[in-house]
Amino acid sequence: MHYICVMIKPPFLIFGVWIWVFAGILNLPAQSPKGQSQRFELLRKNPDSLRLFFQAMPKGGELHHHYSGAIPANLYFSFARKAGMGLDTMSWKWYPADSLKSHKLTPVRSWKSSLQTEIQEKLNTRWTVKGYAASGLSSEDFFFHVFTEFDPLTGPEFWPMGFRYLLNEARDQKINYRETILIEPTHSVSAPSEWNSEIRNLILKKDTNALNKKLRQVILSGMLNKAQIPGLDLIDTLMPNLENEFPDQTLRLQFYVVRVREPFDFFIRLAKSFEIAKQNKYFVNVNLVAPEDNPIALKDYGLHLWMYHFCQVYYSGLSASVHAGEITQNEVDPSQLGWHISSLVERVHPQRIGHGVDVTLGEKGDSLLLALSNLRTAVEINLSSNKFILGVSGNNHPFMRYIKARVPLVISTDDPAILETNLMGYFWGSQAAASILQPGSSLINISSLAARRGTPNNSAYVASKFGVAGLTQSLAKELGPKGIRVNAVCPVLVRTEGLVEALKDKTSPAGGKPDEFLGNFATSQTALGALPTASQVADMCFFLSSSQASAITGQSINVDCGVLPN
Ligand SMILES: [Zn+2]
Repeated sequence: MHYICVMIKPPFLIFGVWIWVFAGILNLPAQSPKGQSQRFELLRKNPDSLRLFFQAMPKGGELHHHYSGAIPANLYFSFARKAGMGLDTMSWKWYPADSLKSHKLTPVRSWKSSLQTEIQEKLNTRWTVKGYAASGLSSEDFFFHVFTEFDPLTGPEFWPMGFRYLLNEARDQKINYRETILIEPTHSVSAPSEWNSEIRNLILKKDTNALNKKLRQVILSGMLNKAQIPGLDLIDTLMPNLENEFPDQTLRLQFYVVRVREPFDFFIRLAKSFEIAKQNKYFVNVNLVAPEDNPIALKDYGLHLWMYHFCQVYYSGLSASVHAGEITQNEVDPSQLGWHISSLVERVHPQRIGHGVDVTLGEKGDSLLLALSNLRTAVEINLSSNKFILGVSGNNHPFMRYIKARVPLVISTDDPAILETNLMGYFWGSQAAASILQPGSSLINISSLAARRGTPNNSAYVASKFGVAGLTQSLAKELGPKGIRVNAVCPVLVRTEGLVEALKDKTSPAGGKPDEFLGNFATSQTALGALPTASQVADMCFFLSSSQASAITGQSINVDCGVLPN
């Protein structure tokens, strides 16, 4: 994923930066001659220097991140294989090992390897935005439908593998702190008769004393004892182990409650989340999720906030980050816009707000921005998912309005695996770069030999890199008339720390023996008997960015020591 999430805690701004190599800036002086302000000015004008600056800077963390949407399809598939699960390829439903006989299924790990590869490729499409066009669904429906398909693979039995993936990935991306939205409590309590209609009446009448009394009664009645957090015991043993394994990374967890539940069901899960978060140091927040345009979510929004505030007071001490304002005029009529964020701020006083897209669409607009700035409430911005789910990007996104109003911002990845940021990062990065590049500039996508040929067990990566090749060709045609050249560089295996680490994995093509694998590959696959170095790849970037390459555009050029002559 070519996306660096960099953040500093408020009141500073928080940035995300794509990795790009631009022409004419490779020979910038490493130091500004006249002090820090000039150095920052230089950095600001030069995206590549800016990238290097952010790379070297100690990071804060990633604060808006959904566990289930962060696990790549390939990894989910390996979870299912290891657990001996079966897949019904008609309904795409997963079944646990002990139920396979009754469903006349066989474990996926016993399938022929060609069938496993085929299904894995299909999952890579179904479970990422790549499957959207073929789904026939709206982007919002597609997005939320995907979660239902891999839901059986998100449970506690898979957390040891999933959490290690999150921490490894955080280490690779130099993210020191990650909060992931993990789990919703379950329960076996039925709503007392008339409870739901009564509480909805009370919020309509704004009878706050009666509302609080009713909520307190639920807690004092002991009903929360019938609610559980699946896997809570595991958290208490797993997390200390992970802290030892990843001393430089901190993982913290959030509960969530789905906004589409009836009031009693919602409250039991919410109160249980707060009760446990108060006792358990690994859970640091209770979030509210689900599409805000759902009829129950819309109707009960005020009631949900009242319940949330009640729990904040009852179980004091927890800071709040809540999704709000992930909504536009495409989903709801204008009267429903703009007030979700202001109500949240008024009722809950959150430290952070997730998304905040409709901030300027309601009546309060500017005064709301001012309030967020004064309160130092950070807004977690999710550019890729806002573009995909809501169709909001570029100048339509309130990003710049937040910046002008000096509202603290956090740029987050949201659901990185579903959103396929490996390719999407290039896409949005190219779009952003196209608006600022001057005639004579050159844009270079760092691609891979995987953009030139398919290889086994590599379908998702290959597909993304083929996408980069297509993007490179199209952008070359689009930007050529402006005097901007666009090329891609396709290195084969380059011996970097990240690659060696990945090849140490027993399930990697190297089977856990990186030296042997890389040595054999160099001897048997290349013409020159060696693998390219990072500096040789940089040499090609330098050439493409120089005036000596002024006639070259739209090309994907191999730097592969002759693995794939063409
Ligand atoms: Zn989210």
